Amino acid sequence: MKRPIYLDNHATTPVDPQVLETMLPYFTEQFGNPASAGHVYGWEAAAAVERSREIIAASIGAEPEEIVFTSGATEANNLAIKGLAEAYFSDCRHLITVQTEHRAVLDPCAYLETLGFEVTYLPVQKNGLLDLTLLEQAIRDDTLLVSVMAANNEIGVLQPIAEIGALCRRYEVFFHCDAAQAIAKIPLNVQTQNIDLMSLTAHKVYGPKGIGALYVRRKNPRVNLAPQLHGGGQERGRRSGTLYTPQIVGFGKAVEIGLAQMDEENARIQQLRDRLWQQLQPLEGIYLNGDLDQRLPHNLNISIENVDGTALLLALRNTVALSTGSACSSGKPSHVLTALGRSPALCRASLRFGLGRFTTTTDIDHVAQTLQQTLHSLRKMPTKTP
Ligand SMILES: *Cc1c(COP(=O)(O)O)cnc(C)c1O
Repeated sequence: MKRPIYLDNHATTPVDPQVLETMLPYFTEQFGNPASAGHVYGWEAAAAVERSREIIAASIGAEPEEIVFTSGATEANNLAIKGLAEAYFSDCRHLITVQTEHRAVLDPCAYLETLGFEVTYLPVQKNGLLDLTLLEQAIRDDTLLVSVMAANNEIGVLQPIAEIGALCRRYEVFFHCDAAQAIAKIPLNVQTQNIDLMSLTAHKVYGPKGIGALYVRRKNPRVNLAPQLHGGGQERGRRSGTLYTPQIVGFGKAVEIGLAQMDEENARIQQLRDRLWQQLQPLEGIYLNGDLDQRLPHNLNISIENVDGTALLLALRNTVALSTGSACSSGKPSHVLTALGRSPALCRASLRFGLGRFTTTTDIDHVAQTLQQTLHSLRKMPTKTP
């Protein structure tokens, strides 16, 4: 059986073959522990880790010492938010974030509320973008942190992070940015964008799963973090645990490739995304979710009227692998689409197209055609109202 076309690249991406090739020797010949300072096995592994650290730091305008390797963006977000809160809790106990953030930001914030912190969850505008006036109004004397993502994982919208960074700097509030969907896809610079903490992950940019990083600003201002994992004192005491050399090597290579071909790849992917939208837009009862211009070129997210979301996904799943606006297990409508003001029915009947490096024109045309036919036949069937 032919495998469905993969358009779920916001969930994860395949490892680029060049990335895999770079990783392989570090499983076998160069398998040493980077912390083994007494022999060549350790030195080789340590050198490879430091090369990756330099690539990743340079890609965001940071210094290598400011990069802490983690198991992914979830851990990086937890370390940033809980680590900062723990380090500064005697002075400031107010945090600001946005309703459309990833669960890995919202849930650590909710956890901190149980410990006595206060959290403001800012709404977004209809296009998914944060209103900077609301942000400015929400900042208080005891505000410790503002956490806003760079690119949204469901609707792909790009928040104005340079403006948010400038605002945070002016009010002397720390700025954390979850850049899991943005690394090596849009230009990021912690200096010009005034970012103090930034979460990264490898598996959304053709690197391996299980590896990510947190950027932690070292000066102007220096950011203190309470470690969330205690042990061998790796990563300057900020994250204990033996470094996962092959994954770190793969992460560096993935970022290197992503940056080298970013402009060219984005142009190609945007053309495909626009081609898809041009074919879907004329269909009846289709709504675009999120701003079309301030958006990752990889993303299209639509809601569809007069169709049952579950039936739609079932009808499509042999042709295309993608996500909808509800986590199927819970059946709860997406918190992101809800924040845009979409009705529960339109949230459920939504499709997230995540295009990637390996998506072709043929894929796009096939998916558009199948969706068109599927909608036509589903809408002809008598509707069962739940
Ligand atoms: C995927 C994702 C995460 C979680 O990253 P992991 O590396 O899988 O833990 C966090 N935030 C955003 C925006 C994401 O897209």
